[in-house]
Amino acid sequence: MTRGDEPDRGQSQTGRETVEPPDWFVEQANVTDPAVYDRFEREWPDCWREAAELLDWAEPFNTVLRGTDGPPFEWFPGGRLNAAYNCLDRHLPERKNQLALVWEGHHGESRTYTYLELYREVNAFAAALRERGVDTDDVVTLYLPMVPELPVAMLACARLGVPHNVVFAGFSADALATRMERAESEYLITCDGYYRRGSAVAQKNKADNARIAVDHDVSVVVLDRLGRDVHLGDDYDDYHDLLAAHEGAEVEPVSRAADDPLFRIYTSGTTGQPKSVTHTTGGYLSHVAWTARSVLDIKPEDTYWCSADIGWITGHSYIVYGPLALGTTTVLYNGTADHPNKDQLWKLIEKYAVDVFYTAPTAVRAFMKWGEEYPAKHDLSSLRLLGTVGEPMDASAWEWYREHIGGGECPVVDTWWQTETGAVLVSTLPGVDEMKPGAAGTPLPGIEASVVDRSGTVAEPDTAGELVVTRPWPGMPRALLDGTDWGSVPDNAEGWRYYPEDSVSVDDDGYITFLGRIDDAINVAGRRFSTKELESAVAGVTGVAEAAVVGADDETTGTAVYAFASPEDGYTESELRVAIEDAIVNAIGGIARPKEIVFTPDLPKTRSGKVMRRLLTAVANDEELGDTSALRNPEILGEIQSTTRRD
Ligand code: ATP
Ligand code: MG
Repeated sequence: MTRGDEPDRGQSQTGRETVEPPDWFVEQANVTDPAVYDRFEREWPDCWREAAELLDWAEPFNTVLRGTDGPPFEWFPGGRLNAAYNCLDRHLPERKNQLALVWEGHHGESRTYTYLELYREVNAFAAALRERGVDTDDVVTLYLPMVPELPVAMLACARLGVPHNVVFAGFSADALATRMERAESEYLITCDGYYRRGSAVAQKNKADNARIAVDHDVSVVVLDRLGRDVHLGDDYDDYHDLLAAHEGAEVEPVSRAADDPLFRIYTSGTTGQPKSVTHTTGGYLSHVAWTARSVLDIKPEDTYWCSADIGWITGHSYIVYGPLALGTTTVLYNGTADHPNKDQLWKLIEKYAVDVFYTAPTAVRAFMKWGEEYPAKHDLSSLRLLGTVGEPMDASAWEWYREHIGGGECPVVDTWWQTETGAVLVSTLPGVDEMKPGAAGTPLPGIEASVVDRSGTVAEPDTAGELVVTRPWPGMPRALLDGTDWGSVPDNAEGWRYYPEDSVSVDDDGYITFLGRIDDAINVAGRRFSTKELESAVAGVTGVAEAAVVGADDETTGTAVYAFASPEDGYTESELRVAIEDAIVNAIGGIARPKEIVFTPDLPKTRSGKVMRRLLTAVANDEELGDTSALRNPEILGEIQSTTRRD
């Protein structure tokens, strides 16, 4: 099959539609041999040597994994490496003049860095940090929007062997202060301000307030983004002055042990308070490089774009470390999808001839809401592969994405992973596996996971259960390696287990469908429904752009179903109300008939764009909201509260 032909579609054993990856894609893919699954299984854990060998090690590791049965685990013990060396230095002989970074800023502002230019800026900034006394015991906090100086600062820290602590730029002074306090971080890199949707955000004011709130002294570097003359004062340095003072400096990369920390990062805060996670240098980077190559099919000659924010793990793994470790061109965009117009992303894909595009299902649902006319205005034929991460991807959004962005022919990978996992654990391999719209895929080669019911017994195919990862993986975080923290529940009979707290079902082919968080499952009259089951029914109603369904306390039935729907333009609430109720009753049954349907222009979402159902549950129960620091759009809660009727 050549590009342009209709793809092969079929039925899987379990009846779900399957889509074959097209031949033109397979012919050029990085990983095409189906035997990779058996080989990784046979050779586990030694199979992961293949991932580590994508990197250059300053000192070779003795073995792949120490401690296979339970913590403490150690990946690649004895090995030493530097992450910045792997992302920059080693590419210079072959591609010093190739673009490493393409940056698109506000109102058409743009900048590019070749590998050599990026190498130089990272070295100069590393020299400046070193001169200020930054050492491997420190943690450097980065509080910057999506500007090239953010990856520069990350790589400068990595070069010095110093862990970074990126705090999402939209967070408040309080959130920044807590994160600096907990990391005992005495260095902060920020900017004077930046533009968002056309207005300036006063970043330095927030940083100043955080600095006052933190108990210890903090040395601050400020990047001038607004071009205004800001008086910096004592213990502040200007980023560009520092660069100028260290121009041409070369800093020897500091090699770190494979399990030394590369960075700290927080989870999204969707289900509770954001959790701090620390990732390692060797295991993390190996896993990220291997998945960027096999799942995202990244090649050095590609222009690759992940539209996440670097403030989240997705940006760390698949904007910065994975793509740069593979020597590709990575795109960085400081802006939103609908500003100045709703075709902004498609304009950029055309402008930069992007080969691989990776985004979130909530973004895809927004694109659907805006309409296919926006992508249709642009030539998107450079695209070869599409991906999503962050939430369950329903079949209709998957199909829309493939059709209207992927020209009906690009494979789409629905990748499942978490801040805690560091890199992808469940997905299809686009050069090997058939795709099933609505299902993510099987555990990747080298990953072992199963689905268990509440009692821990392996669940029957196609019944809902809980995902459990039953073997360690290279990208696992420090707390799981040490066995010191959450999730890692040692079970004497079964061996080591990690519970990601996601609800799933698995079909006869081993494909996993993600159904939502275990905590969000709704129990009505003894029957358990997943959020995805109910929400897919509501979102499937023509005129509904996005939906969330939660269970709230009810005196008669124990739990009542509350549906929250965000309508598309031009649809009236009364016609949608009936259609939504019918859709739920038809798909699930009268038992799940919603007690209330609430219309809202938007759903409460985290700063990384995920629906915060726990807040909707609290609204429905008329309870305290709890930790809302992760909430991006607090104003919407007031609106929802005022429309939620009370009996
Ligand atoms: P917190 O842990 O603070 O509540 P969070 O779980 O949203 O926040 P992340 O680590 O950013 O923080 O997100 C990981 C979660 O996102 C997964 O546990 C899963 O629920 C969801 N997720 C990620 N990718 C997928 C996917 N492809 N399909 C379904 N769900 C996904
Ligand atoms: Mg989580």
